[in-house]
Amino acid sequence: MSESRRLFFALALPPALQRRVIRWRAAHFEQDAGRPVAAANLHLTLAFLGEISEARAAALRDIAGRIHSPTFSLTLDDLGHWPRPGVVWLGTRRAPNALLQLASLLRSHAARNGCHQSTLPFHPHISLLRGATRPVALPAATPQWQLDATEFGLYESRYLRGRTRYQCLQSWPLVMPSSCE
Ligand code: ATP
Ligand code: MG
Repeated sequence: MSESRRLFFALALPPALQRRVIRWRAAHFEQDAGRPVAAANLHLTLAFLGEISEARAAALRDIAGRIHSPTFSLTLDDLGHWPRPGVVWLGTRRAPNALLQLASLLRSHAARNGCHQSTLPFHPHISLLRGATRPVALPAATPQWQLDATEFGLYESRYLRGRTRYQCLQSWPLVMPSSCE
């Protein structure tokens, strides 16, 4: 039997944006608000696949390689706290259609390939703190960073020596809107 791996499709944050986010986070949250997500782990999940076999992963990689979805930009101007599961997140008040369509496409392909999908509506977000189960004082506003999405990736999540690490297995370019027509 082939091994299974815990995989998800996501957008990465460029290193400069990772640095800005963690500096701002350090300045705006109490130390005990939650566990800060490591800079390199900041990401926006498009579709969670779960523990899947190599065969299923290969089928989803093929599908991902055939997606022609446009590039988009999103403004990170929303902030929230979900006491359960204990996440403080950065999001957007106006999710671009291209983002919603890309996530919906990946989630429906995932479902058709046997990856259970949550029935909750897709809420694009970047987790900033985990284990934040107690009330958190949120800053009044975010700095309105812009995230320019030019590619999406397939990531493996591994829990090693007490830390979760993600590795990008493959990424695919989004296409300039004029080339989508
Ligand atoms: P950890 O679970 O070790 O604290 P993590 O949640 O970042 O860290 P994973 O559980 O492997 O690591 O999740 C990878 C990504 O998929 C994260 O963005 C996580 O929020 C998301 N995710 C995990 N489980 C689900 C799920 N059942 N439905 C939707 N997204 C999920
Ligand atoms: Mg998790």
